[in-house]
Amino acid sequence: HMNHPIHFVSLGPGDPELITLKGLKTLQKADIIYCPATQGKHGIISRATDILKAIEVDESLIHPFILPMSKERTDALNAYNKLFLDAQAEYLKGKQIVIVAEGDAGFYSSIQYVYDKFEETGIPVDRIAGIPAFIAAGAISGLHIVKQEEKLVVLPGIVTAEELDSLLTSGHVVVIMKLSQCTDEIHRFMQANRQHEFHYYENVGTLSELHETDKRSILNRTFPYFSLMIIQPHII
Ligand code: SAH
Repeated sequence: HMNHPIHFVSLGPGDPELITLKGLKTLQKADIIYCPATQGKHGIISRATDILKAIEVDESLIHPFILPMSKERTDALNAYNKLFLDAQAEYLKGKQIVIVAEGDAGFYSSIQYVYDKFEETGIPVDRIAGIPAFIAAGAISGLHIVKQEEKLVVLPGIVTAEELDSLLTSGHVVVIMKLSQCTDEIHRFMQANRQHEFHYYENVGTLSELHETDKRSILNRTFPYFSLMIIQPHII
């Protein structure tokens, strides 16, 4: 085996300027950049590719890999296993390999599965930290995400209105990712608990970025994949 690592570079939430200097420098040394994409109705969609195209990185090095959108875990695992084999073959030819992920590559980021497989194989890996979407969301809206003694809980789209109620009434600030997976429960909770402060975000760091705090407007939206919520407790 060679001894240079395969780098996992975090791209940040969408604004190309929110990649770290270290991430950018690593990308600029790459021979191949593997980049997640999905097959949409009108062609390939890839926020990660959009970010890469906006920074000083040679576009011809970008190799998209298609991740199935289905919730079937085995479909995604097949895609990741193929990525692993492709990247390993190129690595063994001596190439500098970079694999990218949106936000932080170790925060609700299934690419860690590939990182673990390389590690098991004895190929050195290295991960470069990035800005997670909820941190960028706080910044665009001037929110003090947690203050003083407050606690923060991050929920990955699996929530019930009861769980939200118990967290908020005990003083937790709650971040909810993958909102599109729990629309009904969020609606149920918002309708019954209007006292809290709801911050809803879409596509942070892109041209279609949105921050909304009006409860009726939030309830009227269809939550897209790239949406999240930060709820701050108001106890009455
Ligand atoms: N690794 C990412 C999270 C990936 S999980 C990170 O560090 O942020 C995918 C979820 O992240 C989405 O369903 C959405 O809730 C959130 N997300 C990622 N990017 C986003 C963005 N630009 N705007 C709003 N939400 C985003």
